[in-house]
Amino acid sequence: MPLTTALPTPVRPQLLGAPLRLLIDGAWVEGGAEPLRVMDPSRGEHLATSASASAADVDRAVEAARRAFDSGPWPAMSPAQRSRLIWKLGEAIEAAADELALLESLNTGKPLGIARAFEISGAAEAFRYNAGWATKLNGETRNVSLPGQWHAYTLREAIGVVGLIVPWNSPLAITAAKLAPALAAGCTVVLKPAELTPLTAVRLGELAQEVGFPPGVLNIVQGLGAVAGQRLADHPLVDKISFTGSTAVGKQLLASCAGNLKRVSLELGGKSPVVIYPDADLDRAIDGAAMSIFGNTGQVCAAGSRLYVHEAVADEVITGISQRATALRIGAGIDPQTQIGPVISEQQRERILGYIQSGREEGAELVTGGAAVAGDGYFIQPTILCNTTADMKVVREEIFGPVLSAATFRDSDSVADIVARANDTVYGLSSTIWTKDISRAHQFARRIKAGNVRINAAGGMDANMPFGGFKQSGWGKENGREGVEAYTEVKSVAVNISGA
Ligand code: NAD
Repeated sequence: MPLTTALPTPVRPQLLGAPLRLLIDGAWVEGGAEPLRVMDPSRGEHLATSASASAADVDRAVEAARRAFDSGPWPAMSPAQRSRLIWKLGEAIEAAADELALLESLNTGKPLGIARAFEISGAAEAFRYNAGWATKLNGETRNVSLPGQWHAYTLREAIGVVGLIVPWNSPLAITAAKLAPALAAGCTVVLKPAELTPLTAVRLGELAQEVGFPPGVLNIVQGLGAVAGQRLADHPLVDKISFTGSTAVGKQLLASCAGNLKRVSLELGGKSPVVIYPDADLDRAIDGAAMSIFGNTGQVCAAGSRLYVHEAVADEVITGISQRATALRIGAGIDPQTQIGPVISEQQRERILGYIQSGREEGAELVTGGAAVAGDGYFIQPTILCNTTADMKVVREEIFGPVLSAATFRDSDSVADIVARANDTVYGLSSTIWTKDISRAHQFARRIKAGNVRINAAGGMDANMPFGGFKQSGWGKENGREGVEAYTEVKSVAVNISGA
């Protein structure tokens, strides 16, 4: 299958005019490690060069964040002043949205329009939403039953210096979901973007400086996970790590964080089920199921990668998803006609093709796709495997690509039977059910072991809705009140006021 859209002439945003630098203590500086070669996955070409942080650079960034937290202008600001700065950063992101979307699209290959409409706008919204929390993080008074008379209350305080470690699939959106609440809580930050996708993080750092964040409040250390990320997780002056990435690295980080018992939030992998009943609005269900696995070329932690469809409608549903898959226009992210871009790297494409191969060897039937797309970029066909069984690797492991594993269920299967199959995974990030039967839908919502449930909907992320995984999909929540409280500690204060 050739590319369905032509590769447009590349545009060079101003940011790419010179090698990117690290942001440490308010200054843009060179890094001590070998520079990063940043690629354009739509063309398989070198796109930019970025400084890469050594362990010593990370140490300097952490020390700057420590100073900014312990003294200086940041802790001296009122919550209202911090709120205004965070809001201004949201507005600055909105004003620079076209440029940020272009950078994100060039760097990840994701369609420009989608980057602009959802991810960059969503990032701006995360800052505006969390700006409101800066003035609303309160402790509370408590009634206690101690002898005598007491005035007892809690204080909710910023946790301190936080290290934010981000993956490559939605760089700015994931950064915003961490950074905005961390700042709202009053923390200072060392941000480590993914080595493959540092561009929007650097532009965000410039915008933060332009709107007036004091030096040291936001430090940015592009670099390798094993060097910069590892040092951040090991560092004794870091109070918390918030990590989004693979379950394997998440587990590894825990050992590093044990050194000073850092607080840890983990947003990890998923293998999320989509269940379709015959009474559903099948057109919407088919669209939703296709979007859930092929959107962002399947590189979404919450992707609906396991389909369970009632046998009465299985042919119609699988044919429908297959038709949508073959109709998707594959091309470079910055081509306005593109609906599905490349995957992030050649290595990732090979990994995905390996999974498809293993599925076929284990007896799954290839319905559509299954191959790389010719061209210099890392393109791959949206793929459906049916007749999959619970023991297959394609059903058990996160592929992180546009590959749907489909299976059917019978009329005689109860909701409990289907949920048991949906829950038969180490992951528990997201889940979806398509049905008009509200009792069945809510039974599903109660029984499923996943942090997020969607009923007759795909997507549905919102700054005010907590997002996070059960089981090996992670610890803690992002977004909503839970997301900002994750950057705070609660202190209890009790005053004996007897005898006055
Ligand atoms: P990854 O785990 O390889 O890397 C994520 C980040 O961790 C990168 O910045 C990387 O440099 C850093 N890192 C790697 N090794 C490290 C180490 N030893 N110490 C400290 N940091 C280290 O993940 P990835 O391949 O970039 O991203 C894909 C994964 O992210 C998928 O598993 C996906 O499901 C997951 N993800 C989860 C969510 C969620 O919200 N649950 C969202 C997006 C992506």
